[in-house]
Amino acid sequence: MKYTFRYRAYPDRVGLTSDVESHIDIHRQAYNYTRYEYQTLESETHNVGSAYQHHDRLPQWKDEFPLFGEVHSKALQATVKRFYSNLSGLSELKENGQTVGMLRWKPPREFQSMTYSQSGFKLKNTSGQTATLWLSGVGDIPIRYHRDVPPNATIKQVTIKKESTGEWFVSFGLDLPADTVPSKPALSEIEPQECVGVDLGITNYIHTSENLTVDTLDLSDEYDRLRREQRDLARKEHGSHNWEDQRRKVAKANRKIKRKVTDFQHKLTTWLVTEYDLVAVENLDVKPLLEDSYNAKNKQDAAWSRFIRLLEYKAELHGTHVVTVNPAGTTKECASCGVATEKPLWVREHSCPACGHTQDRDLNAAKNILTRGLKPDRSGTLRSNAHADCAPYVVASARGCRCKARR
Ligand SMILES: [Zn+2]
Repeated sequence: MKYTFRYRAYPDRVGLTSDVESHIDIHRQAYNYTRYEYQTLESETHNVGSAYQHHDRLPQWKDEFPLFGEVHSKALQATVKRFYSNLSGLSELKENGQTVGMLRWKPPREFQSMTYSQSGFKLKNTSGQTATLWLSGVGDIPIRYHRDVPPNATIKQVTIKKESTGEWFVSFGLDLPADTVPSKPALSEIEPQECVGVDLGITNYIHTSENLTVDTLDLSDEYDRLRREQRDLARKEHGSHNWEDQRRKVAKANRKIKRKVTDFQHKLTTWLVTEYDLVAVENLDVKPLLEDSYNAKNKQDAAWSRFIRLLEYKAELHGTHVVTVNPAGTTKECASCGVATEKPLWVREHSCPACGHTQDRDLNAAKNILTRGLKPDRSGTLRSNAHADCAPYVVASARGCRCKARR
């Protein structure tokens, strides 16, 4: 099984930020050069066309541009591979009927990471709360080691990335034997920025406490098709050959919808459990029937229940906590001051009469869900509960705790 473990990294603490940045910039140039060669060279005669072939060009690159010799060779190969996997992602979109252009040249702000594959890295000093990641050509970078890499895991690759917030993260791509699953990090070690609250919505499929939204899956074509096939079925003589043929078509249309939903939910849950250490969601068993029409709600509830079951299942596999919270009043309460205000479904913005706080209704709900998920009513306590009174602020500032800055 493959896993991704993500850690905060602090190249700034050892004065290595500019070294990491200049390495990433060399990789950016390598990425752009791969693109240039892919577009201008003949694939038959010049070994372009696949990452594997293109790797053969790297010695020549290094002769021509000594700059490319400054970065680790396996990492350079990984960058070439990155171009080709972006390329295949693009053709996948094209196959799905989307209009896509060419892969673009990457300016610095769009290229903020590099990956070491197989070699050129080493994880050291892992006994305490911090550890050291050695990267070839760069040096030792301290990381916050809030969860252990299982002893029987193989680290296949390491990606170091600067987020748009300016924070650095490293992700380890791990390979674990099939019969082992990674253990969950201790709750007391999890920082608020590693947690997320998820509001399951109607206009958006999910809305997270970091204000990321995922649109509801558009199944209108599939449902049109299903209705058409069902209509045709109703016209056939029950039990006849034609009826049996048509019945299969209805089943096929149904299956297509189900597969599309499952695929969508798999992708979404995998993203959540790899990106975060704790995911807080509403407990649907106690969620009252309060919004939308009864039928639509039931249908949506069934899909959400599946989504949460899948999330819990994936979380076990990836060593991530899933916390279900009491959903009562999450939309009414103000994420900033806690005062509850009634609002009908069509009011899409939360505007607090008590403190004046305004934000999107679902974002407000997602923050409340996270706040409830961070409350110390489960086994163990979260580190963030040191700031129990300012929990809303912890959440309000999304990545990073505002009250921390005040201490
Ligand atoms: Zn308020």
